[in-house]
Amino acid sequence: MVEDYKDKIIEIINYAKENNVPIMQEEGISYLTNYIEKNDIHSVLEIGTAIGFSAIMMALTKEDITITSIEKDETRYMEAVKNVKKLGLEDKITLLYKDALDVSLNNTYDCIFIDAAKSKNTEFFEKFSTKLNENGTIITDNMKFHGYVDKDESEIKSRNLRGLVRKVKEYREFLRNNKTFETEFLDDIGDGIAVSRRKEDK
Ligand code: SAM
Repeated sequence: MVEDYKDKIIEIINYAKENNVPIMQEEGISYLTNYIEKNDIHSVLEIGTAIGFSAIMMALTKEDITITSIEKDETRYMEAVKNVKKLGLEDKITLLYKDALDVSLNNTYDCIFIDAAKSKNTEFFEKFSTKLNENGTIITDNMKFHGYVDKDESEIKSRNLRGLVRKVKEYREFLRNNKTFETEFLDDIGDGIAVSRRKEDK
């Protein structure tokens, strides 16, 4: 299905590059779309739309799938609306312009994809795991935070960056010690991906 939309997708990737919009790396998006294709996933909630690249790629994995995606930046949200329209995917993708931490949702989802402010991953996980279907999966991107997670703190000059890296490390600990969810850390894929599922005896 992606082949039919190739040129338009390349335009979106080029726009992201030219305007410094962070979108998923090639390896990461391949893993995500492949996971959705191979598993029984028909509804996805995405935290962090940016300009709609990953939402569009997920929507193109199968006929019977819907994506709800939340973005708090107005310019990016508007660009995402334009892109979804350009690909004619309005029936499959619902875009919400809001801070995810202020959103209230009535639905539940087969998959939740967390790709927004990296300092708030734990809050997103705690809030949205209540919206995950019984056998659902929560996927989080940037678990290596551009490689900084493996660096010694003394090597990171910026205080702000050190704070962010610490938050990502804390999130890794939060997942590792989670009593309800079991997490697989795929550190070799893209910028590192975490795949969390409910433990069987829960
Ligand atoms: N998933 C997108 C893709 O691969 O095409 C990339 C998302 S980008 C890495 C992260 C986005 O999350 C940014 O556009 C940012 O504005 C948005 N964001 C950050 N914090 C947010 C929040 N609390 N609520 C909603 N969006 C947020």
